[in-house]
Amino acid sequence: MYTENDLLPISALQHLAFCPRQCALIHVEQVWAENRQTAEGRLLHQRAHDTGTTWEGEVLVTRGLDLRCLRLGLVGKADVVEFHPTINAQDLDADAAEGAGLVLPGRKGRWRAHPVEYKRGKRKLEDVDRVQLCAQALCLEEMLKGAVPQGSLFYGKTRRREEVLFTPALRAETERIAMELHTLIAAGKTPPAEYSPRCESCSLIEVCLPQAAGLRQGHSASRYLAKALNELMP
Ligand code: SF4
Repeated sequence: MYTENDLLPISALQHLAFCPRQCALIHVEQVWAENRQTAEGRLLHQRAHDTGTTWEGEVLVTRGLDLRCLRLGLVGKADVVEFHPTINAQDLDADAAEGAGLVLPGRKGRWRAHPVEYKRGKRKLEDVDRVQLCAQALCLEEMLKGAVPQGSLFYGKTRRREEVLFTPALRAETERIAMELHTLIAAGKTPPAEYSPRCESCSLIEVCLPQAAGLRQGHSASRYLAKALNELMP
């Protein structure tokens, strides 16, 4: 178990899964640079993080819910958590309610929590976004003392909602990355740059200079030179 002082942001999991150097630049060296993608993402999250609770039919919808998991040492905010009723208050029987859903403070009945995370862009093949969503579910499970089996990712570009099952494999991957995050932050060292296609969408490319690092290390020098010459061609 971690203490309150050890908690790290859930969003850092996504940075670490994308690139350990990017994660260290942001969370160890406190470097941040905005590009079009991060600006769009920030605006999307600002809108989603309007806090409050509303009803959508029978579903209780909370926005900007604070999350915390001492077991994994994580803290953050959920864009949206939907609470679907599993047993209505009038049908609630103490025996039947056992294991039938989550108990919400100040609310009758039993509930199933379903986190929803808003993302710009479109669905990714890698698990970067799913890991972040799964971390939110693990926080909710610790806070509400019950199972959170499923959530959703909503992609702004495609306006599509992807349903995500929190399988044992995804949970294990999320826990592994959370442990790696604590190790990386505790070490306080930024890993060296390694140029790869993901660098082209990285907001820190101007700070990181991965092509120059590759050149210094003698890696891919001809590829780097060819790319540099190509960029100079009319
Ligand atoms: S530019 Fe590439 S190596 Fe550098 S932080 Fe971004 S993804 Fe990582």
